[in-house]
Amino acid sequence: MISTQNSISTLQALSTHFNISLEHLKPVVDQYPMRIHPYVLDLISQDFNDPVAIQFIPRKEELSGYVGDEDPLAEQQQSPVSQVIHRYPDRVVFMISNTCPSFCRFCMRKRFIGKQAQVSRSLIQDGIEYIAKTQTIQEVILSGGEPFMQDDATLFEILDQLKQMSHVKLIRIHSRIPILMPHRITARLVNQLRKYHPIYLNLHVNHAKEISGESQKVIRSFVDAGFPLGSQTVLLKKVNDHPNIMLELMQTLLSMRVRPYYIHQLDDTRGTSHFQTNIETGIQIMSHLRGRISGMGVPQYMMDLPGGGGKIPLLPNYILKRSDSSWVFKNYEGHSYEWKIPTRKK
Ligand SMILES: *Cc1c(COP(=O)(O)O)cnc(C)c1O
Ligand code: SF4
Repeated sequence: MISTQNSISTLQALSTHFNISLEHLKPVVDQYPMRIHPYVLDLISQDFNDPVAIQFIPRKEELSGYVGDEDPLAEQQQSPVSQVIHRYPDRVVFMISNTCPSFCRFCMRKRFIGKQAQVSRSLIQDGIEYIAKTQTIQEVILSGGEPFMQDDATLFEILDQLKQMSHVKLIRIHSRIPILMPHRITARLVNQLRKYHPIYLNLHVNHAKEISGESQKVIRSFVDAGFPLGSQTVLLKKVNDHPNIMLELMQTLLSMRVRPYYIHQLDDTRGTSHFQTNIETGIQIMSHLRGRISGMGVPQYMMDLPGGGGKIPLLPNYILKRSDSSWVFKNYEGHSYEWKIPTRKK
């Protein structure tokens, strides 16, 4: 288990840090535990409304806006064993940890983050056995919680077992650790992980301000060691719901050799509605990116369908009209262009 000593986990400590009274938030943190690691506090400094701070500081809206579902994507129903979510035939999410170095208030897995002891070896073993006997699974996505909150020995044990299954062709790791606790990633860990290639690493990052020099170093070490890096960003009100903020983030990621993968529409998870944005906002961001950054820096904007229907991309509409003889399209500047359907001479 990775230590999170010195993290702020009481309102008293948080009040002292920001020098304001926050005792009224007690019911919130009783329901949804708080944890802010000193590393994240350094990113935030003293600003309560900072885009990084907003992601970690509890708010009364977590209870008063008590809408949404505990588990809007029906992950529990789609879990054949407790730590595996099996929604698509070919790939599974394997939740090997149920804790994180700091707790994001908008987390879709808020229902358990910080509320339970770390996932036990025996629950992990149940997951391994399910994956071993389910031959359709070609890809295993290690997630959580934060997978790197398991110690190195446990991680390697899991990877060793997955590596022995001939049907498992790909490992993907979903992690926010390079952003929230970069010092957890040692040179030795990166070097040992190379044994298990192909491993794809998808970072969870929401704002360019989250990426410190230390994060950049860790990300560079993964890329240099041959890990293809992608990113996932959650669209969050007052954090990144603005085209230029997203543009800057995608530019920063590309410059670090990270290919932006997904921007997620926020799931309708109970206790997170104050972060919710309109879908129009996301679509506007997508049209802003197109034409202003390399196509390699344009992620897909994804909606995870309620009830476990899976993810679908949401796109600006580039098709204005279609007739028997032509299609009319809109370009990134809003100008229209007609494409005549080529006809062959009879
Ligand atoms: C998001 C998700 C995946 C991975 O989907 P990709 O589109 O391949 O990134 C797999 N399983 C579950 C349950 C998911 O939520
Ligand atoms: S790091 Fe990921 S799993 Fe952990 S609290 Fe944040 S969003 Fe949730």
